[in-house]
Amino acid sequence: MRLKDKVAIVTGAGQGIGEATALKFAREGAVLAVCDLNPDAVARVVDACRKTGATAEGFVTDVANRESVTEMVLTVLRKFQRIDILVNNAGITKDARLQKMTLKQFDDVIDVNLRGVFHVAQAVVDIMVEQGAGVILNASSVVGLYGNYGQTNYAAAKFGVIGFTKTWSRELGPKGIRVNAVAPGFIETPILSTVPEEVLTKMRDQVPLRRLGKPEEIANIYAFLASDEASYINGAVIEASGGMTL
Ligand code: NAD
Repeated sequence: MRLKDKVAIVTGAGQGIGEATALKFAREGAVLAVCDLNPDAVARVVDACRKTGATAEGFVTDVANRESVTEMVLTVLRKFQRIDILVNNAGITKDARLQKMTLKQFDDVIDVNLRGVFHVAQAVVDIMVEQGAGVILNASSVVGLYGNYGQTNYAAAKFGVIGFTKTWSRELGPKGIRVNAVAPGFIETPILSTVPEEVLTKMRDQVPLRRLGKPEEIANIYAFLASDEASYINGAVIEASGGMTL
């Protein structure tokens, strides 16, 4: 068990990569704070984590809302006395070409995918500094490395998350806190549910492995980066795309 008794917050843990990450962490012995906007999903994932034998608490948290985040972090601290790992996974898409994108589409994605990451990191950072230890992991994307058609808002947020990661790894490394980002390619989760089948086929053909990724394959990376096995990895962006960008 690589994360035995580590207290971990996973945002957007109600489905997809976040759910797989919460479950993987539970199996690795972590104590889970399962955070998501969707209360039913929170209850389901908490239950699944507990079935592995792990301790898990659910939080209906909106990462875009600072008060909601502060309340969640204070409750986690009160219940479990420390916060060892933060996985900033919550994310949304609202795609449109630059010529069509509304301000609302732009703001909604920035509020969750960029500002949300800032909110949760800022809420845990003093606690981790006081502990002299901690790990912050941020969800970027291959779109945060190369851009993507129709994703001005999402690309800006995912590039921004890499900027956060590199900045925080410099600021917090001397205080015993490691900060890294994961940049997945196309992973089979509900986030892809709005993508037409012919586009999905094109995506698969672009990948040398000839398939999309699975949420568990990203969860494995988060578990590794969160563990002491990654003790010298700081400020890194790990791309996991099956080689689609080669
Ligand atoms: P998903 O849509 O399947 O799940 C996202 C979860 O986040 C949902 O449960 C949703 O309720 C929750 N959420 C949304 N807004 C929230 C908010 N304001 N506060 C709290 N929770 C909120 O997405 P996914 O595919 O599992 O993606 C997870 C992360 O990985 C995202 O940051 C996404 O951008 C990133 N990512 C995904 C892919 C992919 O292909 N699936 C690729 C690269 C990066």
